[in-house]
Amino acid sequence: MSHQLALITGASSGIGATYAKQLAARGANLILVARDAARLNALAQSLRDEHGVEVNVLAADLTHHADLQKVDREIHENTRITMLVNNAGMTVEGEFIEGDIAQIQTMLTLNITALTQLAHSAAQVFRARRSGTIVNIASVLALVSESANSAYNASKAYVLSLTRNMNRELVDSGVRVQAVLPGLTRTEIFERAGKSINDLPAEMLMEVDDLVSAALSGLDAGELVTIPSVEDISLWQRYDEARIAILPYISLNKPASRYLS
Ligand code: NAP
Repeated sequence: MSHQLALITGASSGIGATYAKQLAARGANLILVARDAARLNALAQSLRDEHGVEVNVLAADLTHHADLQKVDREIHENTRITMLVNNAGMTVEGEFIEGDIAQIQTMLTLNITALTQLAHSAAQVFRARRSGTIVNIASVLALVSESANSAYNASKAYVLSLTRNMNRELVDSGVRVQAVLPGLTRTEIFERAGKSINDLPAEMLMEVDDLVSAALSGLDAGELVTIPSVEDISLWQRYDEARIAILPYISLNKPASRYLS
């Protein structure tokens, strides 16, 4: 991986910081993006010391237009970038209807708008070069309508859908895309949303090193969608087959007979 240069968003903690550590251990050079420059610089120094890789820091709040443009420019102008890990994300605790709409909108700006712009730019520049890798961090909540925080779940369903559609556009282009769907993972995301990680069921909580190592194995194996904790992969294959089975019937020139009087 010594030729790799990965730009990782949300690299100051949790899943993003762990991608930084594991990619550096594979010999990749890095560009770390998040708001907290001090944390990014400390991580960058430790990765340079430990792995001898080149690490640069780009402090940016991806919900701020000017900062997002700065990161976007880096993707367009730094022709050495070979990988985007589109990871920065947040949640807002609680049910949608009681939620603070300003916080929900900030979440959508980060989880959807920023991710989309960076994925779009990386897809353009990588396709022109006929090589590159885009990893979009979704969530298993993309598949769930039975838990709190509808808008977060919906934002992650968007990420999954976008990634699948990008894959269709990028087939035979030399560019790889992957959607990673973590379940509950030990990071700071819960505390940031005012919830204690200790309230989560231990049997559902994965350690972040295990999560990222599984996600990278899924990438190595060529997976489009990686759900790290699902042992029986045929469950996911059957889920996807059911989604595909309805496709010939979802747009026809007349309503179904149950709607005809
Ligand atoms: P985390 O530890 O809270 O990390 C979030 C990262 O995003 C931090 O580096 C944070 O750094 C950065 N970030 C937050 N707001 C930002 C902003 N406005 N601009 C730029 N960077 C920002 O949480 P995590 O669990 O690792 O989350 C990473 C991704 O995994 C998210 O997309 C999340 O939705 C997804 N995910 C997590 C879980 C889980 O259970 N942990 C499950 C499924 C999916 P700064 O504060 O320095 O900006």
